[in-house]
Amino acid sequence: MSSHLLVLSLLLALLAVVHCGPGADHGWGYDEDNGPDTWQGKCQNHLKQSPIDIRAPDVDYALLHRMHFLNYDMDGKIELSNTGRTLFAGGFESWQQKQPMIQGGGLKHRYKLVQFHLHWGQNDAVGSEHALGSLHYPAELHLVHVREGLTLKEALTRPDGLAVVGVFLAKTNDPVANNFSPISERLHDVRHSGNKTEIKNFRTKYVLPFDTEAFYRYEGSLTTPDCSEAVVWTVLAEPVAISSHQLHLLRQLHNKELVKSDKNYRPLQPLNGRRIQYRPSKLDRAMICSSAATTLTIFSTVFAFFMTMIY
Ligand SMILES: [Zn+2]
Repeated sequence: MSSHLLVLSLLLALLAVVHCGPGADHGWGYDEDNGPDTWQGKCQNHLKQSPIDIRAPDVDYALLHRMHFLNYDMDGKIELSNTGRTLFAGGFESWQQKQPMIQGGGLKHRYKLVQFHLHWGQNDAVGSEHALGSLHYPAELHLVHVREGLTLKEALTRPDGLAVVGVFLAKTNDPVANNFSPISERLHDVRHSGNKTEIKNFRTKYVLPFDTEAFYRYEGSLTTPDCSEAVVWTVLAEPVAISSHQLHLLRQLHNKELVKSDKNYRPLQPLNGRRIQYRPSKLDRAMICSSAATTLTIFSTVFAFFMTMIY
């Protein structure tokens, strides 16, 4: 009898493993048993994965136009939800003519905003998915846009089907500098996985930094399964402010396992020969121009000196 019970319990344990394995879409997460190391398929064996470390030797200055954030100052209704893996804001498709979009900035198409969500960590030294010179911000927001004219399913099959804008969240204790309150005020409504709440009159520009001139650009992937390599990434250089209290509230959100989801970021992925473009801000551009002008002036002076020596 006891041996039957043993076999039965072994079978049940096996079923539980199969059911919760990372192969099933509902199975992935950020814990040891279902975290990024266990994600399968493209996440393991493709070469243009995200996020990446943005390091100076891999960056080229690029003459790109500025990015246009269309309808980002329009207001509309969004649905904020705790998916058990992230804090997710959706509902932009119903804004119709007012749906926020991006174009320019070297993008070859126009892209419509469909959702944004957040990644964070268990302390202030980790949390953002991208890193600048190996340093992380405590959180990062992703504005996910789908190429105009494509469904999400179609977009996932094209290398430029999605355009995601990454915004770093930097910790500040200055309440005046904080744009994040329309969202953080509602975090208690979505404490548990599956909770949803509505925010009326939401303006997407709340989650953008004041200066969107400078950004990094590279070709990459979704940072969650199935890790499709369908994303043109724009990582804004300027961060948005978030207070330590707001960060604390984010870390209090519960995940699918009904515990505090203190981290939901994927580790850095290898660049594998990709280059990163950097579009500088106006000030940076002025400095580059003035240093080019200085070089030209020195060259002209030396050249003129030699000419006087010859003649
Ligand atoms: Zn993301």
